[in-house]
Amino acid sequence: MSRTEVMIGVGTRPEIIKMAPVMRAFDRCGFPYTFVHSGQHHDYNLSLQFIEELGLRKPDYNLRVRERAPGRQTGRILIGFERAIKMFKPSLLLVEGDTNSVLAAALAANKNGVAVGHVEAGLRSFDLRMPEEHNRRLVDHIASYLFAPTENAKRNLTRENVWGRIYVTGNTVIDACIENIPIAERTSKIMSSLNLGEYILATVHRAENVDNPKVLRNFVEAFEEAPIPVVVPLHPRTVKRLKRLQLWKRVNNSRNIRVLPPVGYFDFLLLMKNCKLIMTDSGGIQEEATAPPIRKFVLILRISTERPEAVEAGFAKIVGVEKESILKALDEALRSETALPERSPFGDGTSGKRIANLIIEEIIPELKKQAS
Ligand code: UDP
Repeated sequence: MSRTEVMIGVGTRPEIIKMAPVMRAFDRCGFPYTFVHSGQHHDYNLSLQFIEELGLRKPDYNLRVRERAPGRQTGRILIGFERAIKMFKPSLLLVEGDTNSVLAAALAANKNGVAVGHVEAGLRSFDLRMPEEHNRRLVDHIASYLFAPTENAKRNLTRENVWGRIYVTGNTVIDACIENIPIAERTSKIMSSLNLGEYILATVHRAENVDNPKVLRNFVEAFEEAPIPVVVPLHPRTVKRLKRLQLWKRVNNSRNIRVLPPVGYFDFLLLMKNCKLIMTDSGGIQEEATAPPIRKFVLILRISTERPEAVEAGFAKIVGVEKESILKALDEALRSETALPERSPFGDGTSGKRIANLIIEEIIPELKKQAS
């Protein structure tokens, strides 16, 4: 195995999308790294499709973890990353976000004396029902290098007295949008194939929402009664829950709901760009909606957000999970004529390059010095 100083670990769709700008920046400088996939998302349309679309090379090592139960999944990924670390001997493990893969990889690095860099550090929803909130907090306290997207994220980290060094870098997802919208416009056929008029784009998949039958029913009813059609690319977790509640047929037969399978990144970028507004419980989509080539208002279908910057800038509103509150907010938003800001609160599209430069010019030389 050839040794590289940096190992990049990913496991799910948003991690691939948000790590891609860092990997491309490394590639542009010819800086070598090892790319490891945990297998947490392994369906083609949640994983390999994004690697292909974003022009990344195939992972050097795939842990192929297929466990679904969260504890076993985290354990198996930890064991897998320990194996990968012993094989490739990196000095720095770079992870992004808040999934079980991120927590497990960070723990494996920590137990093996490898420094952890956390991209998108410092986000806090203060909603301890969310597994993602625990993962984020734990990883931020293991990491030696914290790449906070905003000053607000940095404040969260400072308040918690994290050990690591904090850099404010912006969020790489803005780079991804700016870089990929022109490619999507050249290559995606989704708009012509769906032949849509005005529509709302919606996604729901957070465990605390879709695992709660009452909340999932509220969403179905709100989508059915929305004043314009709702296009919903459905996450496999949500499909499973809808089937279990015997809502699957109803959703598919609804005249106002257009169900799609999870779509590729280019297709999704165009669905965001061309919609009237977005309703979502996704984290990444709250950020992408603020990217200059997209600029869409978002109704956050949750009771909290770890992205308050989007709300403060006027791009988003937390509307909760009750049918009436969703429909009321929808009506207001569709009638509103307030212009959205030109700039994203999550950065200017240069975050990947900044993070890569910090690693190449400052962090790796420092780690080498410590080791000698
Ligand atoms: N996304 C996609 N296709 C879809 C739905 C989402 O490409 O059908 C992308 C979206 O652009 C965003 C990311 O997936 O970059 C968000 O992933 P998800 O909502 O699963 O995770 P979260 O951001 O909530 O962690």
